[in-house]
Amino acid sequence: MTDPVSPAVSFPPAPSAADVVRAVLDLLMRVPPDNEPLPDALRRVEGMDDLHRQLLGIRKMVSALCKGDLHHSCKERGFVAGALKSLQSDLRHLTWQVQRVARGEYQHRAAFMGDFSEAFNTMVEELDKSVSALTQLSQKYKELSCKDPLTGLLNRRAFLSLAIDTLGHTVEKNTPVSVIMADVDHFKKINDTYGHACGDTVLQAVAAKITSFLRSMDICCRHGGEEFLLLLPGSALQNGVMVAERLRQAVEQMSIVADNATVTVTASFGVRDLPPRSDSQCLTELLQAGIRDADQHLYRAKETGRNRVVWSLQPPDLP
Ligand code: GH3
Ligand code: MG
Ligand code: MG
Repeated sequence: MTDPVSPAVSFPPAPSAADVVRAVLDLLMRVPPDNEPLPDALRRVEGMDDLHRQLLGIRKMVSALCKGDLHHSCKERGFVAGALKSLQSDLRHLTWQVQRVARGEYQHRAAFMGDFSEAFNTMVEELDKSVSALTQLSQKYKELSCKDPLTGLLNRRAFLSLAIDTLGHTVEKNTPVSVIMADVDHFKKINDTYGHACGDTVLQAVAAKITSFLRSMDICCRHGGEEFLLLLPGSALQNGVMVAERLRQAVEQMSIVADNATVTVTASFGVRDLPPRSDSQCLTELLQAGIRDADQHLYRAKETGRNRVVWSLQPPDLP
């Protein structure tokens, strides 16, 4: 009997250390598909499967971070995976901070990403300064657009808008409102006699005097050249007339010093109360009618001698 000839069994040669290192470098340096399997020969090397899985996991994490995907979940452990997870967490926090800054929360600062943090902090500080400056500027222009530059009172447009709001509240509470129209008497003569600059000083003084009589809820504007319009919420006609009379006396008693001249002036007043109305649609018409009537009463005050308060179209008692 002859010995059976054993078939030639050939095992693939065990991978050398160089093969292992090359495989590891391949995973780190080459760009193979993400799930490229470990070559069979290398599976036999102890721990190689695990190392391969870890390296693939780390590659996926790096790849996600490079694409800006901050939600990729990496289950690997160890220094490199840990550092990448920490970077991911920092970037997520920064992203959240950027979103907060975009909402106007300029107190945010980053302190964990070196040069980037420094640049981020500088950007937020500069943004904060610019937004503050712009806010102040827009506030200033808003105020300027509402005010008469000579007297500092509201201008007519701002008055009307504020008056409508105020009327809305008084209608709601069913409280009375009075409108007063005032006009400096013979003002042209003051300009002609003392000059335009002196006329300006007189207007400023009269405006200041009127303002000193107002309560916080009252509204007043320079309605035109030497005309002033007041809205007194909570004041019925009788009260409005009383305020106008006090103003008339106060203006009459003023001695205005301007350009070495001491000027005295008088003013005439028309007063009208507004009937309480529940129909808020009509507020504008209601206000306009009130202003028109107060103006007519003022005209009557001029007609009947000036330096007086008129609140009805009947001729007032002459002093
Ligand atoms: P009346 O008693 O009837 O109101 O007479 P008046 O002279 O006050 O009224 P008139 O309408 O004849 O003249 C008003 C003057 O006010 C004419 C205008 O040049 C002057 N004026 C208007 N705005 C200003 C201003 O801002 N500064 C100065 N100095 N004068 C102004
Ligand atoms: Mg006048
Ligand atoms: Mg006038």
